[in-house]
Amino acid sequence: MIYLDNAATTYPKPPQVSAAMQRALRMYGANPGRAGHRMSLRTAEAVFQVRERAARFFGAPGPENVAFVMNCTQALNMVIKGAVKQGGHVVTSCLEHNAVMRPLETLRRRNVITYTEVQVVPGDNDATMDAFRKAMQEDTCLCVCTHVSNVWGIRLPVERIAALCHAYQVPICVDCAQSAGILPISMAENGIDYLCAPGHKGLYGPMGTGLLLALNGASLDTLIEGGTGTASESLVQPEEMPERFESGTANVPGILGLGAGIAFVQRMGIQNLYEKESRLACGVYDRFKRSGKVELYTPRPEPPYFAPLLSFNLPDMDSEETAAKLDRHGFAVRAGLHCAPRAHAFYGTLDRGAVRMCPSAFTGRAQTEAFADAVLQIAGG
Ligand code: PLP
Repeated sequence: MIYLDNAATTYPKPPQVSAAMQRALRMYGANPGRAGHRMSLRTAEAVFQVRERAARFFGAPGPENVAFVMNCTQALNMVIKGAVKQGGHVVTSCLEHNAVMRPLETLRRRNVITYTEVQVVPGDNDATMDAFRKAMQEDTCLCVCTHVSNVWGIRLPVERIAALCHAYQVPICVDCAQSAGILPISMAENGIDYLCAPGHKGLYGPMGTGLLLALNGASLDTLIEGGTGTASESLVQPEEMPERFESGTANVPGILGLGAGIAFVQRMGIQNLYEKESRLACGVYDRFKRSGKVELYTPRPEPPYFAPLLSFNLPDMDSEETAAKLDRHGFAVRAGLHCAPRAHAFYGTLDRGAVRMCPSAFTGRAQTEAFADAVLQIAGG
């Protein structure tokens, strides 16, 4: 099978990731931060090293600004539900995943917030910024938006959105589900207050891992409270990060696997990976464009306006049918709505969805060429 569903979760993982997880089960088997015996201390130290690595990787002030969570959805829920104020207003974009839209919609239906979906203009960041500026209100208490659309690969100018938010003293939360490990982003350089990332996509960690990076965690209400191994005499959840957000036993094998995944991306060089994967996605785009047999929605998926993923359809064919045919040819892709109905509404594909392909560090030119051949063969009848 040629796996091109890396936007859902990357596969394969680097061998160092499974090695780190096996080592965790053998050598770091005690509960970290909960006891004074040497295996607990050793485990806590190994977890701390991953925290430090993640902080450096994302330009966070320090390891204490990094909380380990289950996935990007959990991190986004923690920020959205923890940051909003009763009667407040939230600014978001028209390209969001349900990991953003469902918490917002739940809060809206409970009369906690109202929200505005900003119309993004692909390839015209000035127009996009005008739309964000118009959406800001006096009672705006949070801006939450994706860095990269998981359906169209459109990259939002998050550094400019962050500057706008700061001018209005509104915290910004960036959903880095499709950019963490894929294109460079730094909390410090880009002015980001909250950065949510999955561990299992572009960071090459195992499923069931994710990161919440927060500049000012103490101002977030918590979704989950409990034992942290610190200040146990108090019945009140600690304010300090990362304990505030890490009640209960940690996923140590997952965290150490994630550390190995981030180290892999650092060794390969994120810019190299971004350029290589963009070339592969653009190569497929060009073949489709030349053939005239494929419905393409976006411009060529190249830097700086796009991330390396490509969604398309074949004329008169449902996206699920195309994906099923590709599966029979040995290619794994994702069809349908990608948990992002608002993004599909953007290009009018709500009725049939789209087929999405996404390369990874392990994808080669021969594989993407074979993929384009298979799609064009299916299109040819
Ligand atoms: N946000 C976007 C843009 C995504 O693409 C995804 C997953 O595909 C998520 C959030 C949710 O990520 P996770 O599956 O890690 O919860």
